Amino acid sequence: MSKDKYDVIIVGAGVSGCAVAWKLARYNLDILILEKAPDVATGTTKANTAIIHAGYNADPEKQKGRLNKKGNVQIKDIVEDLSVPFEQIGSLVVGMEDDDLSVIDELLEKGKENGVEGLEIVDKEWLQKEEPHLSDKAVRALWAPTAGIITPWEFALALAENAVANGAEIMLETEVQDVYTEDGKVTGVKTNQGDFAADYVINAAGLYADDVARMVGIEKIDIHPRKGEYYIYDHAKDFEINHVLFPIPTKISKGIVCTKTVEDNLLIGPTSDFVDSKEDLATTREGLDHVFNGAKKMFPDLTLKDSIRVFAGLRAADTTEDFVIEAAEDVAGFVNVAGIQSPGLSSAPAVADLVAEILENEGLTLEEKEDIIETREEPARFYEISNEERAAYAEEDKEYGQIICRCETVSLKEIKDAINGPIPARTVNAVKRRTRAGAGRCQGGFCGPRVTQIIADELGIDTTEVRLEKDNSKIVEHKIKGLLGSQGDAE
Ligand SMILES: Cc1cc2nc3c(=O)[nH]c(=O)nc-3n(C[C@H](O)[C@H](O)[C@H](O)COP(=O)(O)OP(=O)(O)OC[C@H]3O[C@@H](n4cnc5c(N)ncnc54)[C@H](O)[C@@H]3O)c2cc1C
Repeated sequence: MSKDKYDVIIVGAGVSGCAVAWKLARYNLDILILEKAPDVATGTTKANTAIIHAGYNADPEKQKGRLNKKGNVQIKDIVEDLSVPFEQIGSLVVGMEDDDLSVIDELLEKGKENGVEGLEIVDKEWLQKEEPHLSDKAVRALWAPTAGIITPWEFALALAENAVANGAEIMLETEVQDVYTEDGKVTGVKTNQGDFAADYVINAAGLYADDVARMVGIEKIDIHPRKGEYYIYDHAKDFEINHVLFPIPTKISKGIVCTKTVEDNLLIGPTSDFVDSKEDLATTREGLDHVFNGAKKMFPDLTLKDSIRVFAGLRAADTTEDFVIEAAEDVAGFVNVAGIQSPGLSSAPAVADLVAEILENEGLTLEEKEDIIETREEPARFYEISNEERAAYAEEDKEYGQIICRCETVSLKEIKDAINGPIPARTVNAVKRRTRAGAGRCQGGFCGPRVTQIIADELGIDTTEVRLEKDNSKIVEHKIKGLLGSQGDAE
């Protein structure tokens, strides 16, 4: 049931919007998050390298440089409080024999200016010991022990769930189509689900932040999508990588990264190519070859044998190549959180702090609630526990004993819990993000139809209504019985 008026409306439920909601829900405020997709984290937040960067890469005078390191420190507490999968495995910028190794020293200096702790230059011997499969052409590296890896969509979901637990409201499949102003001040938004009044509107619309900014006449934000393509490997793979490994960076990209994920997959990528469309998530032969060849320079034994999927994400790059987090000059109550390209994931809590500061400067009273819920209940994660632990769960509820996704060992109960959770999963991919059903070697070949049926049963809809992700991405077009029936009628 929506309120007559909100203090703050947040447009977009990627990690930026969810972090802002998480932060603001700590105060006595009425908050509404509006997301056009059927789930949180379906934009850039779902397709990236999933690294919590240490913070040595961006220039200290840029917002990116200032916020990354702060976010890196904050995230360590948040993942504990909100039970988000995270591992502080550290990162390396690896210099090869033919590289310009002075870049490593420059990054060290930049990192020190950004206040990044523990940075160290390591030699070939260190590298060979820590990363046994690394090319013997690797001679020197910058070691950043504070970097880590995270499950990005669960990070955003956890932030949003905590915001909801603290009283924020979220409406999915609700697209902001216009922002209303009166006498130079924000008064609310128009959506496909009706109008909502608010004193403040936060534009965290990712790739579409320039379009939303234009709704109040701001022309200076100009988002150009920059694509990154990836290969992801199965857990059962030829060899392990222990840290996040970057090559020497270029001017606009950190280069082809080789890393493990929190779920122990191997991930290589991304490319960095401007594309015309904000919806162009297609992978290309050229891009993927670039990824594989780049990764092979680092790990000569790498093959594609155990790769299970390719995917692409789009960086929401503003022409300034920096975050644009600021109050609008001519429209009171409108705040942009735009141009949030990498390291947007790593910076999210620091971005949220900055937005709260901006709102306070703009006249919003931030009065902390007395009974803030700080934690989130940890969901069962069958994919990472022992058989003994699984058996104990199954004793409690026999639906834990029914394994739906065999590749990732996901039980019926976990899937039902995801569909009935605080921000319910309504699509097959939303279930995958919450449980890993369909994320394994067969990529949903076996469990996909069963997950579709479970969603239909739990939501009380027909399987022909269940979607993979957004828009009209239906999985079942017709039922054979129905087709036979209609043919029968025709005869
Ligand atoms: C290839 C690649 C690699 C990256 N690697 C890393 C990394 O390793 N570490 C790191 O820190 N960062 C990384 N990033 C950056 C990071 O992923 C992004 O900065 C972050 O996910 C941006 O989140 P966001 O919430 O700003 O945008 P998004 O996640 O895109 O969210 C914006 C949301 O707004 C919604 N929306 C848009 N218009 C409307 C509207 N009109 N009404 C309602 N809703 C709307 C969208 O549906 C979307 O859900 C990477 C990015 C890419 C592409």
